[in-house]
Amino acid sequence: MLEPLELQVFPSSYNCISWSEDGEIAVAAGEFVHILTPKVSSKKEANGTTANASSTEWHKTRFRTNVFTINEWPIMFPQPRDHFSVGAEQSFSNVAGVAWSPPGLGKYRRSVLAVLTSNMVLTIYAPTNNPGKWTRIAIVNKALERYFHESIENDTLSSRTQSFRKDIEDHTARTRKSNIRSFTWIPPLKVPAQDQLYPGPETRWGTSLLAITNEDNDLVFLHVQQSNPEHVSQEPLRVQAVSTVSLPTSAGFNQSLQPNSLLANAVRSKIRSLYLASGPWLYQSHKQNSNGEGSISATVNVATVQGSNLRVVILSASLKPRSRNSQEEPRFDLSFNATENTAVPAGHTDFVFTGPIHWAHNVQPGRVSMAVGARAMVAFIDIPESAYRGQDSETSDVKSHRFPIMVESRDGISSTQSALHEGISGMTITMAPESEMPTLHFASVGGYAAVLPLAATGELSTAPWSDKVEDLRDRFDIDRDLGGLAIARIWGLASLQGLIATAVTLQAGDMIEYRINAEDRLSIVFSTADGQPANPENLACLRESPISSVDFARERRDHVLQYILGNHIETKDALSPKVLYAAACCAIVQSQSAELLAHAREVLERLSANGDLDLSDEIARCSDSGGTIEARPAEALNGPGGETFEKCEVCDAGIAWHSAEEARCATGHVFVRCNMTFLAIQEPGISKFCPKCEIEYLDEDLVGLAGHVDIQETCKILSNAFDTCVYCDGKLRA
Ligand SMILES: [Zn+2]
Ligand SMILES: [Zn+2]
Repeated sequence: MLEPLELQVFPSSYNCISWSEDGEIAVAAGEFVHILTPKVSSKKEANGTTANASSTEWHKTRFRTNVFTINEWPIMFPQPRDHFSVGAEQSFSNVAGVAWSPPGLGKYRRSVLAVLTSNMVLTIYAPTNNPGKWTRIAIVNKALERYFHESIENDTLSSRTQSFRKDIEDHTARTRKSNIRSFTWIPPLKVPAQDQLYPGPETRWGTSLLAITNEDNDLVFLHVQQSNPEHVSQEPLRVQAVSTVSLPTSAGFNQSLQPNSLLANAVRSKIRSLYLASGPWLYQSHKQNSNGEGSISATVNVATVQGSNLRVVILSASLKPRSRNSQEEPRFDLSFNATENTAVPAGHTDFVFTGPIHWAHNVQPGRVSMAVGARAMVAFIDIPESAYRGQDSETSDVKSHRFPIMVESRDGISSTQSALHEGISGMTITMAPESEMPTLHFASVGGYAAVLPLAATGELSTAPWSDKVEDLRDRFDIDRDLGGLAIARIWGLASLQGLIATAVTLQAGDMIEYRINAEDRLSIVFSTADGQPANPENLACLRESPISSVDFARERRDHVLQYILGNHIETKDALSPKVLYAAACCAIVQSQSAELLAHAREVLERLSANGDLDLSDEIARCSDSGGTIEARPAEALNGPGGETFEKCEVCDAGIAWHSAEEARCATGHVFVRCNMTFLAIQEPGISKFCPKCEIEYLDEDLVGLAGHVDIQETCKILSNAFDTCVYCDGKLRA
């Protein structure tokens, strides 16, 4: 069971918790971000006993986010009154928001973490090879600076100070353009799969995009991608603004102020777009060319709350495939265009939107919907796909429903219902496993927690998981003899694969408190969406490794062998003979597939012809599988073409092929085999591994550092196709 976790921190923002698809939890806590990583229990502990499967432990680590070097982000000097900003100039740069990216952006295809600090700088963090250490890999504001101030040649301090000075001189809002108020990750833009056996990274991981709003009410879309290998050391992540749309505050931003009065104008100038949230991508494919590949267009909507209005922006993307045979990345040309979606009611509803926003797809077929926090209610807005795509702005089939939030207060004799005016501090959506019906979960800092099935007929009800929060509150209350006055505040909700994590703090009552930092406690409570205890098996990353089944392991290995031996476009003439030979031997030793053995024979015949080698024994063995392939004698290893065969680096003897998992040289040295190239891993520090299956793979970067240049290119090609564990699809680790 996932027991409640306790951290000695106090949250520094609403929505203070984010849960990545790899199972990692990030918590915004003042100057630090805390990262909780579930400990993956392997089948056996070090002392041979079986691990205790009933409880899950977490690695806890934290890193400071509010210290910037002068090159990363310079101190902002006092600005003239019109541009003055408490956040950028005076705040402690506490964490104001955390969000994990979709998986695929970090090393080994992990997620990276975006952290917004109160100095309005958005930074992206990733773990280093040092366990428990995190590092800043990109500052998104720099991309905005490049985009909006193209005259600045390089981002040195002097040019940035000059730009501040220019603001003062010509009264423009240049610095405001690069200050970030709100951000959201957009779901990855994936090229739809076309029945490929080995889909490329653009189909499995897609293109990552980030949307932000700045101090000048621009909504900017940024393309985030891993850098080319040559630039990785200076700039691990490339962030580039691709499209922008300006959202000036409209005159009807607030019904209670007289339009165009001095007060209204002053208030209007201070309104910023907040609570950015992104909807799903809707894809459309167009006519196909002769290779069966057509261009694809996709649309996503991003919503933001501006004052009390809701503004929605459409981003259309088009992907045009490049020539099929070109090896260069990326294989698609991308172009983006952003426009405001006026079909979704903005100014002319009587909702007073307060945020946050959450989107859901397919509540009804052909419709996209969103839930938005509004004053004393939750608004549920249901948009037809045509309006989501921006195709018909005339006929408005957009429906909005309201769900008032009522709380019951008892005075001992009678109970009265009153509207809850508290802001919503956490919101998340879970999907029911069978019906695929989305359910909205939300909570407030007063401890109110409710669920709403997202449908026009849905009804607000108490959140099933709130019992667990109540248990914590009761225990706290009894321990301190507070007579039932203790309050449980909810600071954020996060969900992953049907589980809900709730961030809770406990207070002695609804009054002024004198706290010291040492007493700060934040509890994270886990539950399933329907209030049952959360089991580790609910999370994909904590499920037991499937590798113990021999047949399954063979089948997965065959999948890799098929890729290596099957002469695919990506691998044609590019793989090292050493890896081809090892794969063919592996097929002979373990495979039961006739097709694979036929491929192995072809490859061996080709190797034999090209390299002038005598492979007749192996070719003869391709007719039936099993058995052992003997090691080559020293003469063959040192003769022409000898580098095709593996050699023990300890004693220079040949290595026989008897198993896909293990390699033994003629004099008895034993090594494990890489599960991707099937070569023996003969030295430490050149491999990556799957912590769950305890399986090793050669690491494409480390292999090159260790001087094995002959197989590095092959490792790169294979790692591109198999970038997660071959057996459990889990993320690898150095
Ligand atoms: Zn040896
Ligand atoms: Zn694995």
